[in-house]
Amino acid sequence: MQEMNMLQKQYPDLTVQKDVLLSGYTTLRVGGKADYLLTAETEETICGVLRFLQEKGIPYLLMGNGSNLLVKDGGFRGVVVRFGKEFGTITKTDDGLYAQSGVLMSLLSKAALDYGYTGLEFAQGIPGTVGGGIYMNAGAYGGEMSQVVKYVRLFDGEKITDVPGNEMNFGYRHSLAMDQQAVVLGAAFSLETGDKGEIEAKMKEFAQRRRDKQPLEYPSAGSFFKRPAGHFAGALIEQSNLKGVSCGGAQVSEKHAGFLINTGNATASDFLNLMEKVQTEVYNNFQVHLENEVRIVGNDE
Ligand SMILES: Cc1cc2nc3c(=O)[nH]c(=O)nc-3n(C[C@H](O)[C@H](O)[C@H](O)COP(=O)(O)OP(=O)(O)OC[C@H]3O[C@@H](n4cnc5c(N)ncnc54)[C@H](O)[C@@H]3O)c2cc1C
Repeated sequence: MQEMNMLQKQYPDLTVQKDVLLSGYTTLRVGGKADYLLTAETEETICGVLRFLQEKGIPYLLMGNGSNLLVKDGGFRGVVVRFGKEFGTITKTDDGLYAQSGVLMSLLSKAALDYGYTGLEFAQGIPGTVGGGIYMNAGAYGGEMSQVVKYVRLFDGEKITDVPGNEMNFGYRHSLAMDQQAVVLGAAFSLETGDKGEIEAKMKEFAQRRRDKQPLEYPSAGSFFKRPAGHFAGALIEQSNLKGVSCGGAQVSEKHAGFLINTGNATASDFLNLMEKVQTEVYNNFQVHLENEVRIVGNDE
């Protein structure tokens, strides 16, 4: 595509790859090819590229670590944009840390420990980036991004704004970035000073709880469904006798029924079929609709 050559010329730090299998970029290990995969290393490049794609009407998908994405088998007809390694710095501020979008939440959590800051222990085992974590308002064990975010650096397609945390419309797995399809460029976290030993102990405890409860040995996207009001998705699935049930290579985990895992050779269609089966059975048994937390994207063929 001629447009990609133009972008490459204009932004030398941009890596342009053609016909890239996205299964290599998602933790579910499924997904067909993207027409193009662009990796940007600077804020200027990210914003410039997205402005260009919008002007030209070229469909694009932002991807963090792909840990909450189910990309369909047909891949993505358009451009997938990722944040490169250089777009992953963490800086100490007066009252906490600032992280660029490409930073893994586990590394942010580790940096907080190193500086003796408490508040980000919950993020230690969430395998996403800061950008994806803010977009999803990721959380675990009583902690959530919304509790520690001071402001988010957002690009709305025209301008960059530092939006205060309390204006981010955070809710359960919800944010303003989702409402506006805005790009998270980074976020500042307001953190309290704590005892390093206690912070580390909490992080180790959370990691152990994950190892005990979650099928971390298999590819997955974490909890596949959102927690329905008044219920736990995993419990409803388990009580519907769905543990271990498969569609092709996709299976309801025996260890944690809220996780749909890839037993080796699953396709995206296998996951979509299994998702529907689980939703139908749970609805028939409990009249509760399980909404997917995983973002389903891409083309059928
Ligand atoms: C084993 C496992 C355990 C998990 N445990 C948890 C958990 O405890 N709690 C939890 O909340 N989640 C959990 N998850 C899910 C996932 O890690 C989180 O949702 C995470 O926030 C996704 O981040 P990501 O960078 O991988 O985003 P992606 O999966 O790449 O993208 C998710 C969405 O965010 C958008 N997005 C990504 N980056 C940006 C950006 N910079 N700006 C705007 N939009 C963007 C994408 O377009 C997409 O719609 C788990 C997943 C796995 C595999």
